Amino acid sequence: MKERESYLPYGQQWIDEEDIEAVIKTLRSPYLTQGPKVTEFEQAIADYVGAKYAVSFSNGTAALHGACHAAGISEGDEVITTPITFAATSNAILYCKGTPVFADIDERTYNIDPLEIKRQITPKTKAIMPVDFTGQPADMDTIMEIAKDHELIVIEDGAHSFGADYKGRKVGTQAHMTMFSFHPVKPITSGEGGIIVTDSIDLYEKLKRFRSHGMTSENLTRDEGPWYYEMVQLGFNYRMTDIHAALGLSQLNRVDSFIQKRREIAGIYNRAFREIGIVTAPHQLEETQSGWHLYMLKLSLNELKKTRREIFEELRAMNIGVHVHYIPVYWHPYYKELGYKKGLCPKAEQWYEAVLTLPIYPKMTDQDVLDVVRSVNKVLL
Ligand SMILES: *Cc1c(COP(=O)(O)O)cnc(C)c1O
Repeated sequence: MKERESYLPYGQQWIDEEDIEAVIKTLRSPYLTQGPKVTEFEQAIADYVGAKYAVSFSNGTAALHGACHAAGISEGDEVITTPITFAATSNAILYCKGTPVFADIDERTYNIDPLEIKRQITPKTKAIMPVDFTGQPADMDTIMEIAKDHELIVIEDGAHSFGADYKGRKVGTQAHMTMFSFHPVKPITSGEGGIIVTDSIDLYEKLKRFRSHGMTSENLTRDEGPWYYEMVQLGFNYRMTDIHAALGLSQLNRVDSFIQKRREIAGIYNRAFREIGIVTAPHQLEETQSGWHLYMLKLSLNELKKTRREIFEELRAMNIGVHVHYIPVYWHPYYKELGYKKGLCPKAEQWYEAVLTLPIYPKMTDQDVLDVVRSVNKVLL
């Protein structure tokens, strides 16, 4: 018998009437793209995280591509990142013809381990791309110290961590550049969308040019007239529209309540599952507060009579939308063809075999949360 009538996804947006009004207002305005909403959204995001500049993109992946370009990554450069991420993180390195180098994770936090980063540094290393996996900030102080010692650029993939706290500040000013994604399952949504925040005017200008065909109206080589602009590099059309920015701006009004709700749900799960002892949630670093984009259980498989797959399938049959985040990136056939081999990051690989993502998102009702707890208990005990 099913626990629930309807399928409970692992994540979902929360759109209200104000969001809808904001989008409609932009649809009735003179600008659908390259108008005032994009600039307003960028300023509001920069203000929220306390960064000087923000450059929006059509999605988070394009934003990461822009960041890798602005960091000057090119053929022969190595970039150290985590294998436990969405493939877009390391794909952005490949877009720039760089070489992703995977450093193993800290099994307690599931984030990239700074000691493993150190082990992977070579004279070719150009940058580090930590990911704030599940919404928990990576160990940024340690990573920035390593970067300073070796003169590396740090691009933080904050796709999960918009609104999370790191040592009394919002995530977004620790790295040289931080990316946030506004895909519907992420902390706030603009439909599709992404952004890079930075304190560097130089990176800011590079990002802006890259996003818009490599064109500029500044520092021109000739003065042909007021219409004149120049294309100075091969850029892309990676712009966000005003329609998307209007939705993002409206969502930003509710980010703190969204994060609050995620923290409450995580608290309920933590308490419920601590008692059953055969699962653990990620250890939280001191002075950080996760945004809880994902809630992941690590199963003690040798104490359970079922496999992870059986547990997954039983919960899905109960309409609980469990998931697994993520398959180690270099296991994918495309990466295998590039020469990456199984066994590269043993801790990440072992970890991957034992984890399960549970539903968590602000619009979940108390009943939804109870359904998850009840179903997990039923399947595991
Ligand atoms: C979602 C996500 C991205 C890509 O963002 P999009 O906006 O979907 O392109 C990159 N990295 C991580 C870790 C993500 O979760």
